[in-house]
Amino acid sequence: MNIYKVGGAVRDRLLELPVADIDWVVVGASAEQLLALGYRPVGADFPVFIHPTTGAEYALARTERKTGRGYGGFVFHASPDVTLEEDLQRRDLTINAMAEDDTGRIIDPYGGQQDLQQRWLRHVSPSFAEDPLRVLRVARFAARYAALGFRIAPETLELMRALSASGELEALTPERSWKEISRALMEPAPQVFFEVLKACGALGVLFPELDALYASSASGLAQLSLATLRQAAVAEQPLTVRWASLLLRLEAQGIAALNQRFKVPRDCQELAQLAGQYQRQALQDDAPSPEALLGLLQAFDVYRRPQRFEEFVTACEMAVRAENGPRLTKGAWLREAAAAARAVPVKPLVDAGFTGQALGEALRQRRLEALQNMQPL
Ligand code: ATP
Ligand code: MG
Repeated sequence: MNIYKVGGAVRDRLLELPVADIDWVVVGASAEQLLALGYRPVGADFPVFIHPTTGAEYALARTERKTGRGYGGFVFHASPDVTLEEDLQRRDLTINAMAEDDTGRIIDPYGGQQDLQQRWLRHVSPSFAEDPLRVLRVARFAARYAALGFRIAPETLELMRALSASGELEALTPERSWKEISRALMEPAPQVFFEVLKACGALGVLFPELDALYASSASGLAQLSLATLRQAAVAEQPLTVRWASLLLRLEAQGIAALNQRFKVPRDCQELAQLAGQYQRQALQDDAPSPEALLGLLQAFDVYRRPQRFEEFVTACEMAVRAENGPRLTKGAWLREAAAAARAVPVKPLVDAGFTGQALGEALRQRRLEALQNMQPL
């Protein structure tokens, strides 16, 4: 049997980028042989194994054939007679379809090295169109390597267009989609991911609420959303802030629909929903009344979830930066308000005998006073 490094590890080494995890492919071996050597199978029907000591992933060389709609509609053929070239051919992009043997020799049957040098994201074969997830993967690689000058080959973009128009994208499970989307959001240029989806028609299928902004009468809202996301990436903000920054300008309904479509994790959902609902109060110039300010702090439950309010203010700051504003004038003031409201102690009220609803009302009153005593904006 022969074992090769494949995929991202080969690509990123050639790009002189740090290699995070290594994928291996095993040629000329059977599952039984690997099991006898102590490799553990990752699943019953999938020819991928975990190395007994390193924990790295080893896949038997395989070919794939599409038999039906969606991700379930694949059959794998893994056997000792599948060649390395055959295995590499089922991969998405030429730059991901290279292997490296233990002497450091590169096996590159599909021109990956040339595309790497010339900065092309190009599909390997027409079977690219068999897995709609590849539309998201290519957009994600475009977002990751944008600063290096990578762009999508016209013929690959054409296939992505056809895939987006075919209805196949709808067959992606929320989990698979979100995995790619969340990884794309964390890339250095996440706005490029959405620009690519727009360019190939996938945005209208997967993010119709965002796509509608391109047609909306409020001109430039779509660009502004992407610019806000871009600022969040420049500031190296976490996933929650990036998701909320992207959706800040959507109606509550649109945000809820997107959250549900991709079964977005709760912390991302909540921040996006609340931020969309309350962004105007942070972004408009005038100061809210102490009552409105308290309402805002309560909505975010700033007492138990101070981080969430902080992330809201940050997302609003990204929106101001996206519009070339110097800063969110209210940012420091909102943070001060949160600190003032949170500083109101509960214990004296409890000691004074307040309980239940009366305690809540007394606490509200003290917090309101704390806000009224703040320096005006
Ligand atoms: P990353 O740095 O994000 O891990 P990667 O290229 O290693 O990038 P993986 O998801 O780890 O991406 O996949 C490893 C390899 O498997 C890819 O380089 C590619 O060759 C192949 N691959 C993964 N998913 C697909 C897919 N949906 N279609 C075709 N090939 C794929
Ligand atoms: Mg990888």
